[in-house]
Amino acid sequence: MNYAFKTIAEFNDYFKDEKTCYEFLEDRLWGGVPVCPHCATAKKPYKVKARGKFQDIPSYRCSERACDLPFTVRTNSIYEGSKVELRKWLQAAYEINISKKGISSVELASRIGVSQKTAWFINHRLRAMLTETKPELLTGTIEADETFVGGKEQNKHMSKRITSKRENGKRISKAQPDKKTMVLGILQRDGKVRSIVVPNTRGNSLQPLMRANVEPNARIITDALRSYIDLKKDYNHVSIKHTPGNFITKGDEHTNNIEGYWSILKRGIIGTFHSVSPQHLQRYCNEFDFRYNNRTLTPVEKFVESVKGSHNQRLTYKILTSKKATK
Ligand SMILES: [Zn+2]
Repeated sequence: MNYAFKTIAEFNDYFKDEKTCYEFLEDRLWGGVPVCPHCATAKKPYKVKARGKFQDIPSYRCSERACDLPFTVRTNSIYEGSKVELRKWLQAAYEINISKKGISSVELASRIGVSQKTAWFINHRLRAMLTETKPELLTGTIEADETFVGGKEQNKHMSKRITSKRENGKRISKAQPDKKTMVLGILQRDGKVRSIVVPNTRGNSLQPLMRANVEPNARIITDALRSYIDLKKDYNHVSIKHTPGNFITKGDEHTNNIEGYWSILKRGIIGTFHSVSPQHLQRYCNEFDFRYNNRTLTPVEKFVESVKGSHNQRLTYKILTSKKATK
């Protein structure tokens, strides 16, 4: 199918009703042939006539006797369990794809006409949709680097900050950990980037991730951090030394691409979202990685590509707001 909407007005014209939105999603996720999400049987499901305001929505019931469950294309997707119309979800997905730096929940709420809390939830589920589920190994020339993301810029070089807090009416000073979180970036030149939240920059944190993401024998360029030293065993590892203010580069031995990516990510996160809590940072990284990795596509192509991940693991509100949520 060829979709030609270029503006949000044309987009809204195309997705004029719920039926069109469901059919679009059926085409993207099923290739137009409904598959039971409960048991994945090859048997053709029954068409069911839904009632009331859902009567235009394509609905099915599994024809496998042991299963027999009802479903639509929203079942087991990031859109399941939400009262928000599919049209608004798709509009939000389009907005996240056409924006360069993401879209805040306040902004998204006003554009699609939902509450800010709902927009926040939609944004996080869309980030789950943008997450690579079967990442292939990166190869060729790889640049790897670590950086701090989040927290307040003025506290850049402090691991802790002192804030003043009132407790039982008495003013006390309390040390609070900075909200900055460490991120490892692995970038294939002329290819994809992956940014991964890490607890620290020790070798046993970084090296397993490098090995899980980069093909053996690839060329890896990093700074002089000692944590990367053992990579020499399996890779052509180039370690570059810079002294402050003096970047010595030899030919193509540099990490300029990943450093450029950090500036997009940080400006985006600070400019759009102001601050991001460590427990949610990985999802923001996934969103920025997706936009970078599909940078050669047009906004419409990016949108059409992104909805393929609609069946990615569903995030419930409970998971999102739980303190243990780290992914
Ligand atoms: Zn079934």
